[in-house]
Amino acid sequence: MAFDTTRVGGVGEPLPERDILEGFDRLIAADRLFGADLNSSVIKKSGKGTPFLVRRHPSHHRMLALWRDIFANRVLPQEVLDALAPEVLGLAHGDGLLLFGKDRVLYDCRIVRGNEAVGHLTLSLYREREPVFRFLPFPRRPGHRIVYIEGISLSAQSTGYASSLFRHYERLFHGLGFHRFRLKASLTVGKYYWAKEGFDCEDRKQFAEMRENLHALVRRLGLPVEEQEVRRLNHASMVATFRRDLLIPVYRSADGYYATARDASHAEEFRFPLGKAFLLCSDPWDGYKVIYTDTPRRTGLVWSEGFLDHESRPGHPESPKRLEALFTALREEGMRESLIFLEPYVPAMASLHAVHDPAYLEAFREAAARGDRHFAVRDCAISKGSYEAALLAAGGVMAGIDAVLSGRSDNAFCAVRPPGHHAGRSSAMGFCFVNNVAAGARYARSAYGVERIYILDWDVHHGNGTQALFDEDPLTFFCSLHEHPSFCYPGTGRRLEKGKGAGAGATLNVPLAPHAGDREMIEAFEREVVPSIEAFRPGLILLSAGFDAHRDDPIAGLECTEDAYVHMTRRVLELADRHCEGRVVSVLEGGYRTESLVSSAIAHIKTLQGREGSPCSSARG
Ligand SMILES: [Zn+2]
Repeated sequence: MAFDTTRVGGVGEPLPERDILEGFDRLIAADRLFGADLNSSVIKKSGKGTPFLVRRHPSHHRMLALWRDIFANRVLPQEVLDALAPEVLGLAHGDGLLLFGKDRVLYDCRIVRGNEAVGHLTLSLYREREPVFRFLPFPRRPGHRIVYIEGISLSAQSTGYASSLFRHYERLFHGLGFHRFRLKASLTVGKYYWAKEGFDCEDRKQFAEMRENLHALVRRLGLPVEEQEVRRLNHASMVATFRRDLLIPVYRSADGYYATARDASHAEEFRFPLGKAFLLCSDPWDGYKVIYTDTPRRTGLVWSEGFLDHESRPGHPESPKRLEALFTALREEGMRESLIFLEPYVPAMASLHAVHDPAYLEAFREAAARGDRHFAVRDCAISKGSYEAALLAAGGVMAGIDAVLSGRSDNAFCAVRPPGHHAGRSSAMGFCFVNNVAAGARYARSAYGVERIYILDWDVHHGNGTQALFDEDPLTFFCSLHEHPSFCYPGTGRRLEKGKGAGAGATLNVPLAPHAGDREMIEAFEREVVPSIEAFRPGLILLSAGFDAHRDDPIAGLECTEDAYVHMTRRVLELADRHCEGRVVSVLEGGYRTESLVSSAIAHIKTLQGREGSPCSSARG
């Protein structure tokens, strides 16, 4: 059954309490509602008819309180029971019960084919409480609604069933306003299967261990896998699909458990792809999957403390504070739970050499290691950690591209620094060292075969580095909106710069006069940028998203507001929907007044998520 999300999402009116109470009474009369303790010695299964040892029925008062807490009284008890038991691939649920525990509602059933029981399923539905700090004046927040998959077992081979059931539950619980699935992946097939379904380790340390163990396995078997490939894995689903081309032997025991080494009990040999084999043999882990209830699009956020290791001298506008402030704001806005966090990785040097001269990168590395205070030019201030941070920033864009092209997120915002769009093949300038967006574009082509890439740069400064790198490339379109070069750094980006050789016509520069605001920016965007995206038909859109065209930004002379960024973001998403399944990876460039950087970036990210932003009044008419 389909739930109206506005009804359960907190917008519509709750149902009258008497309807809910009548619903309880009807289920009690049909012997389908009981009270239960969560103590596992109390909840006992026997496969035939009496699955639980249950207490008497809880009081109406208690049932109603729990129902209100978990379902906000926006759905009837029988509706929940029906919706939890779809018939899928000839399998149905028998003896489905609702059990009321102290702080949760449980659903328990047998999975049946005709009259024959082939498995069972238990779900726990509850609300996770945020920790309460007694002496702090924070109001207690409602916490997340969780579906815990306590157990699912099937006697027959029914992966297709579990998968279809899970799809159904994802839609259902999305509609019911739940936030997370949780489970303990302990079964032999489960560990691989749940990872493939998008379940990640609850604990990041556990994931780091998983990656370390995979690396150890690779070393032990002497497999042709580069350390780099393992390092870039940042989600259990990436482990599940890792190196499908590389089959390794695993050994199965009589009870269906797998190991990577043959021994007395693990004797039967199979060959599986590396990632699958590894997960089949790995330790159980606690998994979770977020249900993105409150945003229409799933947006990834690339973030790492490693980006703060690039320090500039005091008073330098490009400081770690920019990102710290943005991250604090994301937390205060309550956006952390709705974003898919993506970890950047240090990219393979070969993928950086596609953009930068190896000797240039080496000189940068040496300058940072020596403790130089700047590199190449005086405005490119550096510290000991600058080289690693710059590499990580480029790898951050690659992580964003991985997420979007593998379908893990619909789009992504890469909150990276140092910025990159002024960096050329062998030149650092304008606070930039490694051209992040350019490295990302080359990576998207080499790793995923994306043919046509459109880079839109709306930083107030011309993206001269990116332009130079793709000057002669007809398949990478570079478009820059910026303050006119006669008035603004770096003094390039005139209209007549349109690309060279084979790339002639694949560069578009749209300079704006000083003091231009939202109206001028949006008009230029609609008049020139939109038709060029339409004509180019990209397979991926990358944004060089600087927010220094904001009127409060001290470093240039345009006077835009958040409205312009919201408008352009929304339109870029529409165009991406039309041409490339919504694939947009946005990369932070400039933005040097903390307040306007943060408010603009937040508005941009919310728009990427498909949330209704502030109306862009200047865009009308
Ligand atoms: Zn800039």
